[in-house]
Amino acid sequence: MLQSYNTKMFSFEGIKLKSNIYKYNNITIVESLQTPKRIKILKRKQKITPELLVKALENIPSKLLNMVKIITIGTTPSSSDAYWTKTIKRKFISFANADYKIQHINFYPLDTPFTFCYLLGTIYHEIGHFIDYNMFSYKLSDSPVWVKAIKYDGNEKVSKYATEMKDNTEDFADSIELYFGENKDDFVKKFPNRTRIIKRILKL
Ligand SMILES: [Zn+2]
Repeated sequence: MLQSYNTKMFSFEGIKLKSNIYKYNNITIVESLQTPKRIKILKRKQKITPELLVKALENIPSKLLNMVKIITIGTTPSSSDAYWTKTIKRKFISFANADYKIQHINFYPLDTPFTFCYLLGTIYHEIGHFIDYNMFSYKLSDSPVWVKAIKYDGNEKVSKYATEMKDNTEDFADSIELYFGENKDDFVKKFPNRTRIIKRILKL
């Protein structure tokens, strides 16, 4: 159940904004308040509400949800959007990112509508980063185990995004997203070696 906690100033990428703080199980949810002035500065609105977020979280097995400590619903665009727009040569607006050290997922406002499925998938993706970095003493996606699985699965990344980003980090996060997604069967069929690793490490 979503519990309202209090209101305080919270720092979003160095900008302190008045925010509502909530609790959902052991997760702190921070919602940056959207004043008309803020929406005008941003030229876009954050469409995620704490209620919508919790509706998504309710779908996630507790084994994975326990890896999350804090989720912020920001009204500040990601400072790395310009870098990625340049690097992958298309307009890039981050929907979310993860700080695995403090088990923090942050959502940025999108300028386009998104589906509930996309929101849920993004949470799985970010939890994928926590699994990748935090579960072992090494980074799983760069380990020989994952590298070999990619090779034996046909040497292709699991998604267009992972291909664009050109690293195994996003391949791993998207594998978690796809494994827990609507088209799990397709993923399992196409990427049996990655599936085996996911099932083994998460004891599924
Ligand atoms: Zn990612």
